[in-house]
Amino acid sequence: MMNTNSLAPEAMPTLSIEDQQRLDDLLTQSLVLNDNYMGYPAAKDFNYEFLTPFLNFQLNNIGDPFVTGTWRGDTKQFEQEVMAFFAELYHAPKDNWWGYVTNGGTEGNLYALYLARELYPDGTVYFSQDSHYSVNKNLQFLNMRNNMIRSLPNGEIDYEDLRETLKVNTDSTPIIFANIGSTMTEARDDIKKIKNIMIELGIERYYIHSDAALSGMILPFVDNPSPFDFADGADSITLSGHKFLGSPIPCGIVITKKDMVDRIARSVAYIGNLDTTVTGSRNALSPLILWYRIRSLGLEGIQRRVNSALAMTERVLDKLKAAGIEAWRNPNTITIVMPRPSDTLVNRWQIASTESFSHLILVNGINEAKVNQFIEEFAAERQRKEEAS
Ligand SMILES: *Cc1c(COP(=O)(O)O)cnc(C)c1O
Repeated sequence: MMNTNSLAPEAMPTLSIEDQQRLDDLLTQSLVLNDNYMGYPAAKDFNYEFLTPFLNFQLNNIGDPFVTGTWRGDTKQFEQEVMAFFAELYHAPKDNWWGYVTNGGTEGNLYALYLARELYPDGTVYFSQDSHYSVNKNLQFLNMRNNMIRSLPNGEIDYEDLRETLKVNTDSTPIIFANIGSTMTEARDDIKKIKNIMIELGIERYYIHSDAALSGMILPFVDNPSPFDFADGADSITLSGHKFLGSPIPCGIVITKKDMVDRIARSVAYIGNLDTTVTGSRNALSPLILWYRIRSLGLEGIQRRVNSALAMTERVLDKLKAAGIEAWRNPNTITIVMPRPSDTLVNRWQIASTESFSHLILVNGINEAKVNQFIEEFAAERQRKEEAS
């Protein structure tokens, strides 16, 4: 690729030796930490060096991804193709979808809840106690009425509790915030079951959002996926791009129905554009990253990665069980739930944990030898504890 650096080398500002050293140290540290984590849903098997020339430009996807305003230094063509890919993958209604590349799952969820509130100002949000921690904050931002629903032991929403709660709250439009891969156990709320509850209770007006931050990249590639997309009844879907696909910077997408968005779009003369997105100036590199990833992998490449991550998860689960550790997972997930190891192990292997349990997430690019090393350390630690008691 052409050298696109606009500065002559002699005009490039240089760092002091000390500052260069700090960057070198950060690089070394990043290499080590990156190789060791196994409890976070962020894939490691990527290389975006091809895109580095674009770091030398002022790129900004300000405003609506489908509108060209007065500012032209953007990657909106690529963003549109990324969104078209997901529209098809998630069976969005033809010619009636809209969405954009976000800074991550949280922004997508905020957008979806905002849209739902504008459509149904009288709405109440229903979400399970296993929902991502950001949901409460988003509901506070938006000042929306809400109801937390119990979860089943596997992390899925408790449909009985949802039914009973809906029954006694008939004065307000239900806005369902469904977890499609809960944070701790990757449990998926079944939106077909949720729709059936609506039918059973005679509720005609409601909104369903699928928070598919991690699983949104797995479910389209497995047999008998649990229902979560537009064909199953979702009104909006979010995905985190840096999770299953993998990206050096956090990113994601939110996709919804165009006729819904059109009802709340506002035009802004200053940028000659529509103020449809949560932020004004928007990252133009992340659409390029997602585009590059999707184009270079293709559907077959993604399918291969899904198969390989699921197969690795099964191998690791077998090893944990063989070592006498009570580990389990939900079907078709890459998340293994297990008792909480000591703080030493939790920190060494960067394992996300609650008070009582932890999980491993077997993303692509994980070093399986290191996972096996962790299992040995964990088993030995438990052995010692047993002997001591
Ligand atoms: C990670 C995650 C989020 C938040 O996504 P970010 O990209 O970190 O903002 C929301 N919901 C679920 C289920 C997640 O796993």
